[in-house]
Amino acid sequence: MEQIKILLDENEIPKQWYNIQADLPTPPKPYLHPATKEPVKAEDMAPVFPMELIKQEMSTERWIPIPEEVRDVYRLWRPTPLYRAKRLEEKLNTPAKIYYKWEGVSPPGSHKPNTAVAQAYYNMKEGVERLATETGAGQWGSALAFGTCLFDLDCTIYMVKISYEQKPYRRILMEIWGAEVFPSPTKRTNVGKKILEKDPECTGSLGIAISEATEDAVTHEGTKYSLGSVLNHVLLHQTVEGLELKKQFEQIDVYPDYMFGCVGGGSNFAGQCFPFVGDKLKGENPDLQVISCEPTACPTLTKGIYAYDYGDTAMLQPIALMYTLGHDFVPPPIHAGGLRYHGDAPLLCKLTYEGYMGAVAYHQNPVFEAATLFAQTEGFVVAPETAHCVKAAIDEARRCKETGEEKIIFFANSGHGHFDLAAYDAYHNGKLVDYEYPIDLVKQSLEKLPKI
Ligand SMILES: *Cc1c(COP(=O)(O)O)cnc(C)c1O
Repeated sequence: MEQIKILLDENEIPKQWYNIQADLPTPPKPYLHPATKEPVKAEDMAPVFPMELIKQEMSTERWIPIPEEVRDVYRLWRPTPLYRAKRLEEKLNTPAKIYYKWEGVSPPGSHKPNTAVAQAYYNMKEGVERLATETGAGQWGSALAFGTCLFDLDCTIYMVKISYEQKPYRRILMEIWGAEVFPSPTKRTNVGKKILEKDPECTGSLGIAISEATEDAVTHEGTKYSLGSVLNHVLLHQTVEGLELKKQFEQIDVYPDYMFGCVGGGSNFAGQCFPFVGDKLKGENPDLQVISCEPTACPTLTKGIYAYDYGDTAMLQPIALMYTLGHDFVPPPIHAGGLRYHGDAPLLCKLTYEGYMGAVAYHQNPVFEAATLFAQTEGFVVAPETAHCVKAAIDEARRCKETGEEKIIFFANSGHGHFDLAAYDAYHNGKLVDYEYPIDLVKQSLEKLPKI
């Protein structure tokens, strides 16, 4: 009988993270200082991040040891299972084989604690007492609240106001783990005050919340900032997923033809696919297709431009070369809150720009249709973010049915949707809007790119 769950033992949790920077054909372009536009040096980042994370950000070492204390926390839910989606395959009547790695088993319910735990640990080691961060729908905030809780740090979270008001459950989860949560924009920061003076009804955005958390960190002794995606060190920590995945595929003697993952900032998908993209960079498995999946309403990789842009609205964060829709672009209110960032991870963007990875975009309704079919066959109710790559995997499996190809299809199942049931409800009641690509908004935002 074929296995449904491909499992690893606890002692097979990787002992090192994989740094794809060691294998890139050309080095990535440096971050630029938002004021001087000169390349950022380690000391420029020191007010914001602990030194060990800054080192990882810039490192070109291929393997970076995972501290024992971090591995010990990972053991609470890692290694995560790799599943064969047998029932979905049967329903689709496809000759393709579909696999997914399930990150919904972590306490906060997504891949995000893989980096939250590591970041909390390094900050604790360097004597930091409090972390400040932003969160959209609350996935990242809850992961960092969990991580800081285990390493006895305080945690302050700026939560995009519209989500704070509409989605109380993740806020409650953050508070259970001991974090303080404020609806952003707040009057706690100059950035927030300025925005509220201009627009007292402002419902917030990820870009604004990042600016507030950054300001909080740099203006308070003993406080640093923490980011849940996009940066090199975040992608690095997430490779614990892809390294497990490689072992799991080796165990059953399988290598994927297609890898799909949803991309908000790019951390979960990079974590899953970078060890495999590393093979491609070495000329092995050139036919492997690695495809990012994003919403049509916030189509960073498929419709953005590859340019230097700021990471946040107030232009406090470094300028990075990435695909962007413009740093003040506020996307339509789709339910996949984690996919509403204006840019993407510079490393993932570089690999996309150079043709090692591809990208597709989907509307909400077909995405929820796919996630519902998945729930009705495999049982798991996935996050609206994840649903984007479920859609891609199902489309590819259907294509294989047409052609009779027995391809191996993998998708990164990044988290559960138990706090997103209102979105499923809206879908079932025909109330989900498919937003067209907001071309005029993007055009306006792109006019404000920094001149480099
Ligand atoms: C946050 C989130 C994402 C998007 O973030 P990435 O950094 O692109 O991974 C995807 N899936 C889930 C479940 C999330 O919580």
